[in-house]
Amino acid sequence: MSQFYDLLSKAARDMGSPLSAVPARTHVTTEELPLIRLDSNENPFGPSPQALEAVRLSLQELHAYPDDDCSRLRQRLASRHNVPFEQVMVTAGSTQMLSLLCQSLLAEGLHAVTSERSFVVYGMAVRATGAQLIEAPMQSDHIDLTAILDLINEHTRIIFLPNPNNPTGTMLDADGLDRFFSEVPGHVVIVLDEAYYEYAAHFAERRKVKYSRSLEYLRQGASVVVLRTFSKVHGLAGLRVGYGLGPAELLGYCTRMKTTFSVSGVAQAAALAALEDEEHIARTVANNADQAGALGVGLSELGYRVVPTWANFLYCDLGERAAEIAAQLRAAGVSVRPLAAWGAPNCIRVSIGTADQNESFLSAMEKIGNSTASRMNICQANPRQA
Ligand code: PMP
Repeated sequence: MSQFYDLLSKAARDMGSPLSAVPARTHVTTEELPLIRLDSNENPFGPSPQALEAVRLSLQELHAYPDDDCSRLRQRLASRHNVPFEQVMVTAGSTQMLSLLCQSLLAEGLHAVTSERSFVVYGMAVRATGAQLIEAPMQSDHIDLTAILDLINEHTRIIFLPNPNNPTGTMLDADGLDRFFSEVPGHVVIVLDEAYYEYAAHFAERRKVKYSRSLEYLRQGASVVVLRTFSKVHGLAGLRVGYGLGPAELLGYCTRMKTTFSVSGVAQAAALAALEDEEHIARTVANNADQAGALGVGLSELGYRVVPTWANFLYCDLGERAAEIAAQLRAAGVSVRPLAAWGAPNCIRVSIGTADQNESFLSAMEKIGNSTASRMNICQANPRQA
């Protein structure tokens, strides 16, 4: 018996009962071991020291409302990316930008398109507007742009392209995206989600390939919004700050939908400082690329298939025992992400940590693999959304 069901909007009803929803990661833990968290693609080195100092200074302003326009940060981002100020919008994490785009462009009867096994928040943001999310099949762990094009019709308003993709870590190369942009019709906005931009750019440099021409599409007047975040390489996931680079008119509509003061002054100050800390960024991406290699080799030696990554996590096929192994890892003090909810019950996603964290993970994997008793002891890991 529900007290509120009859009062709900159709979109809220269609999202289903909250009682059956996947719970977010709990931050209350009864475990005694300190947990090595390799489940949410956070920066294993934490925030930049310069960002921490900016946070300390900004605490004196806690009594004041923040600059709702995020002017200083927007100016800094505009000059860094060489786009006009009006083409930058700062939001409470890039997920808020996703929601605002959905609220501005979607409604019942319309839909967005993405790939299967992509970022789970797309579905939540789309369904909250009463619209539908349609998922194209992948081609061996890669987003299939032709399959996405085939799903576009007059009711399509948004295409979400995570590049690199979460959770598979695969990348869409610049030439493939060029062709895609030339074929998408004008009534569809392409959201190029580059949450892992800095990691991918670093891999691309090492591997001598072209990663992304996203801002060139914007400068040429394409209907594109490029998403970036301070949650990943900058290590500020807890402060909630991200941004979109897109056509000024569209961002203007999104701004009207935004909850006032949703990006705190502390977050703005930290983001400004983090942008300048090139040493922290360089250390983070170099560790990530080196450790991606070490972790990939370690997992392959244990007999598991690993998909080459362009981000700060690995997608790994553990076979039928994936969920059980993830639960045993957690009991051993390492949290990874089992991917049944993404339609990949045999796979996990493991964030690339420091050398020490990765060694702990690999040695726990080895022990679990060697343990015959391991099949008996199944407990449930805590799923999250990040
Ligand atoms: N896009 C992708 C593909 C992600 O994986 C994530 C974080 N897990 C985000 C966006 C959201 O990041 P945030 O809201 O913290 O900026």
